[in-house]
Amino acid sequence: MGERENGRASRVVIVGGGFGGLSLAKALARRPFDVTLIDRNNHHLFQPLLYQVATAGLSPADIDTIRKEVIADGRRVPYDTLVLATGARHAYFGHDDWAAFAPGLKTIDDATDLRRRILLAFERAEGEDDAVERQRLLTFVVIGGGPTGVETAGAIAELAKRALAADFRAIDPRCARIILVEAAPRVLTTFDERLSEAARRSLEQLGVEVRLGAAVTDCSDEGVRLGSDFIPARTIIWAAGVMASPAGRWLGAETDRAGRVKVRADLSVPGLPDVFVIGDTATVTAPDGSILPGVAPVAKQQGQYLARVLAARNEGRAIPPFRYRDYGLLATVGRSRAIAQFGRLHLSGLIAWVLWSVAHIYFLIGFRNRFIVALNWAWSYITFQRGSRLITGLYPQRLDDTHQSPRTEIRSKAS
Ligand SMILES: Cc1cc2nc3c(=O)[nH]c(=O)nc-3n(C[C@H](O)[C@H](O)[C@H](O)COP(=O)(O)OP(=O)(O)OC[C@H]3O[C@@H](n4cnc5c(N)ncnc54)[C@H](O)[C@@H]3O)c2cc1C
Repeated sequence: MGERENGRASRVVIVGGGFGGLSLAKALARRPFDVTLIDRNNHHLFQPLLYQVATAGLSPADIDTIRKEVIADGRRVPYDTLVLATGARHAYFGHDDWAAFAPGLKTIDDATDLRRRILLAFERAEGEDDAVERQRLLTFVVIGGGPTGVETAGAIAELAKRALAADFRAIDPRCARIILVEAAPRVLTTFDERLSEAARRSLEQLGVEVRLGAAVTDCSDEGVRLGSDFIPARTIIWAAGVMASPAGRWLGAETDRAGRVKVRADLSVPGLPDVFVIGDTATVTAPDGSILPGVAPVAKQQGQYLARVLAARNEGRAIPPFRYRDYGLLATVGRSRAIAQFGRLHLSGLIAWVLWSVAHIYFLIGFRNRFIVALNWAWSYITFQRGSRLITGLYPQRLDDTHQSPRTEIRSKAS
């Protein structure tokens, strides 16, 4: 590892430029490594804010752990250390056919498709004479009461009840039904019960119908079935679960039920000491036996930790196992409502929302991004606008996951 016998810097290939991959690349930039970052997209996507928009890839054959090479765009990229930070995708728990009717929210394409679906539903309702069909068009079902589902349902409610309220003649967008379906007895189950309850109340104040203890048994073009109950709806949004990227299969490594690679305490793959997996693609058991959550701070801290592991290996030192520092939990419900849990300190309402906004702007990569987002938010807050109502592209009949962006590679030669 590290400085090679021939004097050249150790080659680190990182696949995936999300939170984990980028924080590792940034931390390694100041160290004597030759870093190659490969991502199927040429941008960093800040997923925690995706709902507000709604607002080449590597394959198994492309990783050769024997010859220590990654094949990107037909070119062989040799590595001394390989890091897979390829994130997760939404999962339908064996019902992949639901994906066509209940798209999830993970990529920019997902978010723009969803935004188009939502706005088109209002436009179509405006021109619809049949009252039953109009109501179906004005019914939005969000499946999954985790942070993504809660935030999405709150955002649609605010769009309908406030931002679009005066934009139509034949329909009143305030009559739209926004239904949040959750199989568990409460929303946001990772939070304390009282905070979950505060979030539920906030959702209801925004006009969201919250259905708890309700498991979805079918999704179709016509609506959502919850056992014997059927909700006619033209727009269904899936926020009920994710599955890790298939990196485990690429490596032939052991994974958990969510497809996450079971890594060692230093984040390396058992049996492959030069291959590491971080972020949503990995599963690490904390010293107390709990499994770390799939959130951005875990991915970022793992990226920073791995930079220290690689530097220590360079110098022939060992460092202690990865330990996650939990700074707390935050979830937003809508404009000016959120919940926050920092150890024993539990907050809800406006103060929690201010904290949430500051934290999300802080975690955006780069000062320019932070500044622009802060400015946009301030403007939206004052004017209550959610951006343009412009609808681009054709209405997708089926939302197949066929999009493949060309791979891009960013090479940075460290000093
Ligand atoms: C809608 C939404 C809201 C969220 N809200 C929050 C929140 O409020 N707070 C929070 O802490 N976390 C939140 N999360 C979770 C958080 O985004 C993830 O935990 C975090 O992004 C994980 O980082 P990562 O580096 O593992 O993966 P990602 O950030 O997903 O990055 C993976 C990267 O790998 C690339 N990639 C994938 N497959 C390939 C391939 N085959 N070849 C090449 N490149 C590939 C992708 O293009 C992507 O750039 C949210 C997630 C979603 C979807």
